[in-house]
Amino acid sequence: MVEKKLTPEEFRLKILEPAKKTDHICWTCKHLKPVIKGSKLPPADLIGWCKKLHWPFYWCIPENLVVKKCIGYERIG
Ligand code: SF4
Repeated sequence: MVEKKLTPEEFRLKILEPAKKTDHICWTCKHLKPVIKGSKLPPADLIGWCKKLHWPFYWCIPENLVVKKCIGYERIG
C-alpha cells in the first residue's frame, strides 16, 4: 500500500491540536499559523497568525473577529 505524502499544512492539521475552536475560515487555509494547545506565550484572544495578509508581517487573528470570507484564502491540500 502506498501512503499519500502529506503537505506540511496537512501534517500540521493531523498532529497539532489548535488551542481554540472557532468558525474562522482560516482553519482550513494554508496561510494560518495557529496557536497550538498548551502554548503559553501568545495573548489569549488570538487563534493564530496569518502569514499572507499584511506580508511581510504576520497579522494577528483575533478570536472574536471571525473571518468568514477572505481574499487571501487558499485551502489546504
Ligand atoms: S489568508 Fe485569510 S483565510 Fe488565510 S489565514 Fe490569512 S486571514 Fe485567514
